[in-house]
Amino acid sequence: MDLTYSPEDRAFREKARRWLEANVPTDDLKTLDERKAWHRKLYEAGYVGVLWPKEYGGWGASPMQQAIVQDEMARVNAPPAINGLGIGFIGPTIIVHGTDWQKGRYLKKMLTAEEIWCQLYSEPNAGSDLASLKTRAEDRGDHFLVNGQKIWTSSGPIADWGILLARTDSKAPKHKGISCFLLNMRQPGVEVRPLKQITGSSLFSEVFMTDARAERRDLIGTLNQGWEIAQTTLGFERGSNSLGRVTRYAIAFSQLVRAAKELRRGGRPLIEDPVVRAKLGKIYAELEVQRYAGLRVLSALNRGESPGAASSITKLSYTEFEKRYYEAALEILGPWGQLVTAPEEFEEIDTSSGEPGTWATAFLWSRAGTIYSGSSEIQKNIIGERVLGLPKEVRADRLKA
Ligand SMILES: Cc1cc2nc3c(=O)[nH]c(=O)nc-3n(C[C@H](O)[C@H](O)[C@H](O)COP(=O)(O)OP(=O)(O)OC[C@H]3O[C@@H](n4cnc5c(N)ncnc54)[C@H](O)[C@@H]3O)c2cc1C
Repeated sequence: MDLTYSPEDRAFREKARRWLEANVPTDDLKTLDERKAWHRKLYEAGYVGVLWPKEYGGWGASPMQQAIVQDEMARVNAPPAINGLGIGFIGPTIIVHGTDWQKGRYLKKMLTAEEIWCQLYSEPNAGSDLASLKTRAEDRGDHFLVNGQKIWTSSGPIADWGILLARTDSKAPKHKGISCFLLNMRQPGVEVRPLKQITGSSLFSEVFMTDARAERRDLIGTLNQGWEIAQTTLGFERGSNSLGRVTRYAIAFSQLVRAAKELRRGGRPLIEDPVVRAKLGKIYAELEVQRYAGLRVLSALNRGESPGAASSITKLSYTEFEKRYYEAALEILGPWGQLVTAPEEFEEIDTSSGEPGTWATAFLWSRAGTIYSGSSEIQKNIIGERVLGLPKEVRADRLKA
């Protein structure tokens, strides 16, 4: 693992820091339009699409520079860019498998957040076992007719486009009869029903498709190649670097320590309670483990290596840590930690600032990480089978021997 910054990276950090300090919004961004405007500004300054190739509107920078941007944004508590699903893994999937026409039509507008994207993979009976999906796409020549239901669609209520998995051959084995499309969400055959989460936000949704139309030119890859394309998307989803996240945890941690100094229980500051001190110490130690795990992935990415199935270790580790972290924080903070700031209906809640009113929401939101992009149990299966090479099934007769 190489943890040194090159002179070029140091200069990049300096420039990013100066720009962010001068431009970060001082007021909360409440509406989608305000968030889009901030996103656009970040993009134009070179801080969105950092890793994307220049020919598709990105900045062609290194994983190290992307980590620097995330780190500096966390440092000043900058509101994040939007369209995370699009920029993080749908766009990169189109770059790998899409046609020139698709790249020209969709990628730039995704980067600038002129068009917001969602992911239409999970169904009521196809989550972990995604290949069981039942949504059908019937070939009608110049287009496909789509019927079925998706669920847990993040950003569905504000999305203009979605990446869709649908069954195109019902007779083939289940992994082989699936295709991948880009679907216009703003058409009469697509109905989005928002789902209210326990955090109070309604960015989640169910999506019903009734004779919806997916154009043939919006088929990604070849017919029935959808499973392979889904693996590309999930690889980007799980394999990203978690360092920016660690910086945000660390900033929230300093707020937690500050609150523990200011709040009093039984007439004494919380920080003087040995149990509180032990809990803070444990979180701090775990945070450092997460930091070094993030640096290890970054070092590998910077050498041009892909983490592959090992990205499941990172995902499992930081999402499980996040649950322990916020649980311990709420135990320390007591009733003060229960205060919540109610979100706007479609607001993405920033749960990482450590500001008053965010801890309970962060605790609730931390449950999500161990479910999306494949639950912790599924990550353990992947680690067992693909990283450690353990057998898929343990035969009962071998157990007896
Ligand atoms: C916040 C959030 C955002 C999401 N956003 C999206 C989105 O934008 N688009 C989208 O398509 N989906 C999205 N999802 C859905 C997510 O991918 C699924 O919830 C996830 O894959 C689990 O599927 P499931 O909910 O159907 O649970 P199930 O698959 O029914 O699993 C139920 C339980 O059984 C366990 N289990 C299942 N199979 C196995 C196995 N083989 N071995 C061991 N244990 C197993 C699971 O770990 C889990 O504990 C999102 C989910 C969340 C929580």
